[in-house]
Amino acid sequence: STQEKTPQICVVGSGPAGFYTAQHLLKHHPQAQVDIYEKQFVPFGLVRFGVAPDHPEVKNVINTFTQTAHSDRCAFWGNVEVGRDVTVPELQEAYHAVVLSYGAEDHQPLGIPGEELPGVLSARTFVGWYNGLPENRELTPDLSCDTVVILGQGNVALDVARILLTPPEHLERTDITKAALEVLRQSQVKTVWIVGRRGPLQVAFTIKELREMIQLPGTRPILDSENFLGLQDRIKEVPRPRKRLTELLLQTATQKPSGEETAHQALASRVWGLRFFRSPQQVLPSPDGRRVAGIRLAVTRLEGVGEATRAVPTGDTEDLPCGLVLSSVGYKSRPIDPSVPFDPKLGVIPNTEGRVVDVPGLYCSGWVKRGPTGVIATTMSDSFLTGQTLLQDLKAGLLPSGPRPGSVAIQTLLRSRGVRPVSFSDWEKLDAEEVARGQGAGKPREKLVDPREMLQLLGH
Ligand code: FAD
Repeated sequence: STQEKTPQICVVGSGPAGFYTAQHLLKHHPQAQVDIYEKQFVPFGLVRFGVAPDHPEVKNVINTFTQTAHSDRCAFWGNVEVGRDVTVPELQEAYHAVVLSYGAEDHQPLGIPGEELPGVLSARTFVGWYNGLPENRELTPDLSCDTVVILGQGNVALDVARILLTPPEHLERTDITKAALEVLRQSQVKTVWIVGRRGPLQVAFTIKELREMIQLPGTRPILDSENFLGLQDRIKEVPRPRKRLTELLLQTATQKPSGEETAHQALASRVWGLRFFRSPQQVLPSPDGRRVAGIRLAVTRLEGVGEATRAVPTGDTEDLPCGLVLSSVGYKSRPIDPSVPFDPKLGVIPNTEGRVVDVPGLYCSGWVKRGPTGVIATTMSDSFLTGQTLLQDLKAGLLPSGPRPGSVAIQTLLRSRGVRPVSFSDWEKLDAEEVARGQGAGKPREKLVDPREMLQLLGH
């Protein structure tokens, strides 16, 4: 049938999930045409707007994504927000199959009083700001305070702590935005607390990120050795990666630093610490009520064992003064269209192996499929699986038969609505401009952060 010959497939979102799904489809079906729709002007999702600027090696996946985009059976259409500029049912009309890979952009609210005070931000917006996400470019966080509290103990929390405490001159040659670097140069922040509801055995960050914190120039870790009592015996039972991580924590908390480390730490002008068994209860306002001045934490203890371990409040509280609260307690996806099933509790699209339940021809991959956990490599395997599922269904004749117009129909629709998509070659012009602007300063690129300027550069 036609659809088996030239299946028209579209993918919504150009992060790792979108690109890895496209890559799988193109590789395993010699005729498939894959169009990627992206709401930003630029591709690559969190690889560009999430991954920390001082981790350039993580961004090498962009080379693979670029190869995929260069396939003559693949097209990228930026500046198209699905759900606003074009609906999912319209895409389903135009394509044999639609894959939703639009990530998890909303942050989990804290749900505590005072959350709305100036000086309380989601870590994700803070990351978006230093990484040049257009909608966060005007955030300009106030770093005139001494102490920052980060809620959550995952890798994003450590990324944010590291960026706050790294000597700015060490960030000069990264792709951090000029504006963010300026604010960081003026920063008065001396102390960063990274707060978790549970204990050292439950932290969600990984050993590489922890080691980077411990070795951060000009800083010293503060860990309360009391939190580590009895842990030595318990780590024998835990799986190996967790064991190594806990050993490093334990060592940092309980062992006297070596001579070299002592010297390094004596010079430290900034400190960071992990605060365990604390759950946010209330953001405390300044006397005039206009800003955050601290946070009230409920002291917790653990109940249950293994993965089911829960933190329950003991009834005690602790007030921690601070001028900025960054919450990094998780994300969730947004519903994209009333016709697409959505699980509001888990914040994902219900699916079996990537098939959206009850909607033939609709698939999902990445964070919107699995929930917002896991690194790029996890997202890759998960997206390959969705690609595989889709191609199985295609082979089994489960997708609509007969030809579909694909992007031709969607372009007409978008034009009638005054939407001007940007292509991958448009992105390559912007990319070249960014690289050129970075060159003088020795940066890999200076990111463009203003969509109007981008359009101007493209002559749109
Ligand atoms: P995303 O990367 O979020 O991509 C979703 C894309 O969909 C985005 O481009 C978005 O603009 C687009 N989109 C959203 N809505 C629409 C719409 N309505 N229409 C069209 N397009 C839309 N992993 C690592 O391995 N190493 C790291 O160092 C690392 N650092 C991270 C740092 C942060 C701050 C975060 C949050 C995550 C980090 N991760 C890291 C995890 C990694 O980013 C994810 O595993 C991966 O990006 C998930 O891929 P995704 O494609 O599902 O989502």
